[in-house]
Amino acid sequence: MSNSTLIRGGTVVTAEREHRADVLVHGETIAAVGEGLEAPAGATVIDAGGAFVMPGGVDPHTHMEMPFMGTVSADDFASGPAAAASGGTTTIVDFVIPSPQESLLAALDTWRGRAAKATSDYSFHMAITWWSDQVSREMAEVVKQGVTSFKYYMAYKGAIMVDDGVLVESFQRVRDLGGLCLVHAEHGELVAHLQDSIFAAGITGPEGHPLSRPPAVEGEASHRALRLAEVLGAPLYVVHTSCRDAMEPIGRARAAGQRCFGESLIQHLVVDDSVYRNTDWNQAAHHVMSPPFRPNGHQEALWQGIADGTISVVATDHCVFNTEQKRKGFGDFRKIPNGTGGLEDRMSVLWHLGVGGGRLTPCEFVALTSTNAARIFNLAPRKGLIAPGSDADLVVWDPGKSRTISAKSQRSRGDFNVFEGMTVVGNAAVTLSRGSVIWQNDTLQAEPGRGRFVPRAPFADYARAGQRRFDAAKPTAVKRGG
Ligand SMILES: [Zn+2]
Repeated sequence: MSNSTLIRGGTVVTAEREHRADVLVHGETIAAVGEGLEAPAGATVIDAGGAFVMPGGVDPHTHMEMPFMGTVSADDFASGPAAAASGGTTTIVDFVIPSPQESLLAALDTWRGRAAKATSDYSFHMAITWWSDQVSREMAEVVKQGVTSFKYYMAYKGAIMVDDGVLVESFQRVRDLGGLCLVHAEHGELVAHLQDSIFAAGITGPEGHPLSRPPAVEGEASHRALRLAEVLGAPLYVVHTSCRDAMEPIGRARAAGQRCFGESLIQHLVVDDSVYRNTDWNQAAHHVMSPPFRPNGHQEALWQGIADGTISVVATDHCVFNTEQKRKGFGDFRKIPNGTGGLEDRMSVLWHLGVGGGRLTPCEFVALTSTNAARIFNLAPRKGLIAPGSDADLVVWDPGKSRTISAKSQRSRGDFNVFEGMTVVGNAAVTLSRGSVIWQNDTLQAEPGRGRFVPRAPFADYARAGQRRFDAAKPTAVKRGG
């Protein structure tokens, strides 16, 4: 049997252009893109007539099998990436989160072990949850092992939060190593204070959650992280920007030439904070995530941020907790495990509302769901492109295929879906990961263990560009006579 596949008759869409072309795959990589390609003897032929052929989605923000708030997120590296493949996503970047005082290298080993059952490819970010000479030294080794982005939690006081001192020391270290900083931007001290005062005032249900994390809490931290990164010359990516307050500082920094990026989640583009007033506790608790869903109006602001380039990536922060796990916080909203899912629905919801809704072109959709993340995180040119030599991570996207989202039929192990009941037009018909069909005819064919770790090189270009700015601002002593 030949190990070639010809995807014939489709419209190839990349971040740059849309054109009629066949895609020939040899083994695990793309061999040719062009009109009228011949199928080699024995090749599998996939008919993409009437469909779009796009790079497989890249979700750079997921949490599989993550220990958090006294429990472990419900999707693992087998179920999560498989669910992703059913929605057209073929690569995830997950977070290694060492406990404070734990070795980064030990934590990386733990996560590599968890990811051994992955059904498609993955990479890692490393969280910095504490600071010492050892952490600083280990960061260099982590970079050598292909993990070149570092994540900081400015919230979750008493757990994984780091203070400004750690941010300052370690942003500089990331810059020197040619890495990229990521921040969860919320003022953790303020959140802890508001949580306690709201709880003390007798508000114990999920409606207390958004009250303890208003937009200003996120706006302050986004602004602070950007200014620290600016002074220290470190490139910065702000994860899950949920509101106008957090987005505007990113837009200002980008306009001023700072190397920074904004990410929003598909959930925050769609859902507003009315969900926390639901009289069904379980329904309300299932929307507890940080940052929380925002008052009406912020969703439109995020769409505007996408349009003006402030937001480069639409991700999910996929971190699923089931009803039984959410119940840990019954009677105390501070103990509800934070997280929602979205991995398998991200692309179809964005297509439906974005392309179907007249807000995005297909090329912009590919940029937001795949190419921008692949470029920002140095997964390109292996991922995020349809070009000879790139991995054959591809999705045949049927723009007419309709599906009604429901927790009952989802592939994720979650028992809830924030998009429940929404009918989306435009879905993945066939998904290939490194040349293998892993989703077709509404059936998963993704074997656990076939996914591979994708190492990422340091960001030499960002570092060079950042260094120039840093050098320009370098203090110099004034020479004076006697
Ligand atoms: Zn996250």
